[in-house]
Amino acid sequence: MTNPITRFAPSPTGHLHIGGARTALFCAAYAHGHAGRFVLRIEDTDQKRSSEAAARGILEDLAWLGITWDDGPAFDSCGGDSRSVGPYYQSERLSFYNEAFQKLLDAGLAYPCFETTEELAEMRQSAEANKQTFIYRQRADYDHASALKRAESEEHVLRFKMPAQAVTVKDEILGEVVFPYEELDDLVIRKRDGFPTYHFAVVVDDQAMGVTHVIRGQEHLNNTPRHVALMGALGYPVPVFAHLPLIFNPDGSKMSKRDKDKAVRAAVKAAGDVTAQDAGVDEGVFAKWQKDKTVQLPQDKLVPLAERLNVELPEIEVEDFRRSGYLPEAVVNYIALLGWNPGEKVEGGKDLERFDRAYLDSKFDFGRVGKAASKFDREKLRAFNFDLIKSMEPGAFAKIWRAWAERYDKALVQRLSAEDMHMLAPAVQPRAATLSESRQPIAYLFVDAGTIEYDEKAVAKFMHKGEPAGADVLREFAPRLAEVEPFTPEAIEARLADYCEHEGLKMGSLAQPIRIALTGAAVSPPLGVTLASLGKEESLRRIERCLAALTV
Ligand code: GLU
Repeated sequence: MTNPITRFAPSPTGHLHIGGARTALFCAAYAHGHAGRFVLRIEDTDQKRSSEAAARGILEDLAWLGITWDDGPAFDSCGGDSRSVGPYYQSERLSFYNEAFQKLLDAGLAYPCFETTEELAEMRQSAEANKQTFIYRQRADYDHASALKRAESEEHVLRFKMPAQAVTVKDEILGEVVFPYEELDDLVIRKRDGFPTYHFAVVVDDQAMGVTHVIRGQEHLNNTPRHVALMGALGYPVPVFAHLPLIFNPDGSKMSKRDKDKAVRAAVKAAGDVTAQDAGVDEGVFAKWQKDKTVQLPQDKLVPLAERLNVELPEIEVEDFRRSGYLPEAVVNYIALLGWNPGEKVEGGKDLERFDRAYLDSKFDFGRVGKAASKFDREKLRAFNFDLIKSMEPGAFAKIWRAWAERYDKALVQRLSAEDMHMLAPAVQPRAATLSESRQPIAYLFVDAGTIEYDEKAVAKFMHKGEPAGADVLREFAPRLAEVEPFTPEAIEARLADYCEHEGLKMGSLAQPIRIALTGAAVSPPLGVTLASLGKEESLRRIERCLAALTV
């Protein structure tokens, strides 16, 4: 076998869907596990819906996941054109398509058509009225020469004359799938704007880029016979096909970005008083969105509105998982199990599920890819992420945590220095399944001292009881705390230990009152870290306030 060339070919019309990331991952794994190359191509022939910003976002998400490509747009250390098969944006490849159009036109296998949208709609309606599916075919009286003449001055599309025979698609996962001619229309291959359709561009580019293995989602299976027919007409070899199973929500519905819009829509309805201004959009846009379920709010409006309404958005796109604070290694490990498994057991007979990229590359093959749709199990992904966060070396975790906060939680970065985050890492890591949960174990840092409410039970147990009472211990100790310099966890812990030893106190009888004063409750990260992260002044202020509150 020659070294395989796989490709991932996203359309830059929005963020990278998690299913797209899985496709890209398997394409990369197959290529890299078989000494091949992985190509990334941006399919931006739909000029209205494509944007450069979306294309960049996709490259960035792939790079973040560590799914690197060999040939394709240059980004970080990825991409480049060492085989000279670029450019990798379809909008820059029109000359390739034009050459292929000409080839088909010359052979009489492509032909211009002039029907308007209305005429096509009528044709469809009359077919449906006769209980038939509308299949466009070249008319029996079609005159090629005069159509070509007419095409010189009139807007038109080009259609492909589908050969009158069934097409068999050989698929590595699904086996042989036969598509009868009756289901295959003379599809449009060039649009009125002169751009190729997806079907045409994909066939021309896969050939020009030397793609040997087309690995993509099952939603494309119905496109494949059209591609195979086009390949035949153009004299191209047919690549190996592998259509990956779909990914569903746990309830069996399609995992679609509409799910996010749906969640916000429900919350807006429940709240009853949300205005266009709250949503950050024009009255007209808001009214239209409220009326029409097929209209979606733009993502940059949806996320702040969801935050405002306290709705958790389901994660669908890679960007959503990033925002929630999943680590790329956990995401990649989890999505590798969507429709595939390595078929190995670990001790105790359980399936081996935790592995890294090198393992995936070495094991991935089509034989173990399932046919049936797989369900996206967020709890499992959370467990992967939790274990990964917990196992990290604190310095490494702190860096990732900070990079995440710089993007998604600016207030956290403003509140905590890089050193603070390093210091807090061991307290956060065992308590946060995702980075967006990292504030919970250190919530005391984000409350205003004036609003702390003291847990009554804790106060009764640790402040009022004992001989001497906790509140008195705290009052005596406060001036000693003021002397600690530098105010680091180690110096603080040492002073606490000294003090307890000197006064003949158990550590708990000093530690718990301090915790209550600082956080309102008797649970917090290690005391040295809790105090140091608040700083000396703030710690003393909180102790003073607490003592005053307790003596009223
Ligand atoms: N641009 C297509 C998409 O984003 C690619 C499909 C294919 O892999 O052929 O769905």
